[in-house]
Amino acid sequence: MTSRSSNLAIVGGGITGLTLSISLTKHGISHTLYESAAGFGEIGAGVGFEPNFVRTMGLISPALQEAFLTCADAKRPEAFDKTPAFFQYRIGDLRVPERKGLKDNLVAIKKDGTEVKIGEKLFDWRSRPGLRGGVHRAHLLDELVKLVPPHICKFKKRLIDVMEAEDGSGDAVLSFADGTTATHSAVLGCDGIKSRTREIVLGGKEEARAVFSGKYAYRGLIPMSKAVKFMGDYLPLRSQMFAGYHGHVLTFPIAKGTIMNVVAFSSRPTWESEKWVVDSSREEMLKDYETWSPMIKELIAAMPEKPDIWALFNHRPAKTYHQTKPKIVLVGDAAHASTPHQGAGAGVGVEDCYILGEILAAVSGNEDLEKAFKVYDEIRRPRSLKLVETSRTGAQLYELESELGDDFEAIEDRMETRMDWLWDYDIAEDREKALQILKGSA
Ligand code: FAD
Repeated sequence: MTSRSSNLAIVGGGITGLTLSISLTKHGISHTLYESAAGFGEIGAGVGFEPNFVRTMGLISPALQEAFLTCADAKRPEAFDKTPAFFQYRIGDLRVPERKGLKDNLVAIKKDGTEVKIGEKLFDWRSRPGLRGGVHRAHLLDELVKLVPPHICKFKKRLIDVMEAEDGSGDAVLSFADGTTATHSAVLGCDGIKSRTREIVLGGKEEARAVFSGKYAYRGLIPMSKAVKFMGDYLPLRSQMFAGYHGHVLTFPIAKGTIMNVVAFSSRPTWESEKWVVDSSREEMLKDYETWSPMIKELIAAMPEKPDIWALFNHRPAKTYHQTKPKIVLVGDAAHASTPHQGAGAGVGVEDCYILGEILAAVSGNEDLEKAFKVYDEIRRPRSLKLVETSRTGAQLYELESELGDDFEAIEDRMETRMDWLWDYDIAEDREKALQILKGSA
């Protein structure tokens, strides 16, 4: 069966594919969304967005920002009214006082003489003012789906290949695992870290392949009513980072403060399994944190009996995000899958969707798509590749592996400024720049 249409094809219906569909819909750009699964779905875990990303959602569409806020802690003033901490940085690993030769669980004596012990706050890693927060991924996806016109969504469509149409039109012919094909003006690849569109654009599986970052994570959700029993009322309702040598444990509230999201990171040099998500056991997890404080051990004991281990892979820098014959452009994780250490992979994907939508709205027809994708590549690639690299080195800093070691004052100074480029970014300037380039005046 072959269907023919002159609209754009979005491949992949994760956060990026759905956000891009919302962006194109706003501009009245006709498109079809192909998703390999039988329906839209996300895993049971949290995802956080900082104020600049939430503002970008609002630029795409106020309804998109509202969809996020519906799932976030928007109604809890302490999460929004001041400049809260992105994370409160604490030490959870008992080897730190030991290695620093400090007694009584002391991890540092600050310049002003304050003594900081295991589990106590070393510093606030400050966020920025504005709407922000953590959401349950599945809740967010449900809200995004409501903003996508249902008739454009095609499920059980696993993209296998994209070829140029033989009729000389320059169109792209997509073939799917179910034996069907579809013809579109261009393909917008939103198919995630194992992206097929990325393989096509970069010219092979090897070029497109993600590499193991040296880190893996256990992920779990703990009901807030349970978390407060071993962490008290204060800690679980705010974002916490407990750091140690070669590991760190993050907790932050999601689902309007009813659930505590836990991501516990650890390190190993290589990843041998074909699978990136493997079964584990609570015993295995406890072994990874055997040198950590009693509270962290209690937290781990409260995790599911058989937590999954997620191997953290990231892409190597792509030399391009687009190709012309046939026309394909990469968006979100398909372009720049990152480790999660700056909590910004999805947020930077949202930025992609905003800029790509604005660029596509500014070009007049199919013949300009090539120019549009070139401008998108020029604007988006440097920033998103920087995310991948700084996220990787971020984990080394938090986990006391960087050249700063466990010098906490130096770590605090570095953390104070290392996100400026990411969070103090004016995406409107990128839009202006893109439109200027399109007009040929920049
Ligand atoms: P995906 O979510 O991978 O979606 C791809 C979609 O394409 C899927 O629906 C898939 O079924 C479909 N698909 C795949 N192949 C095909 C095909 N051949 N044909 C058709 N469809 C296909 N980011 C943040 O901003 N904040 C955070 O707090 C944060 N925390 C994170 C924590 C962890 C532990 C991890 C691993 C990541 C985190 N991220 C975070 C990153 C974020 O999860 C990703 O950047 C984001 O989910 C990527 O969305 P996507 O839609 O681009 O890709």
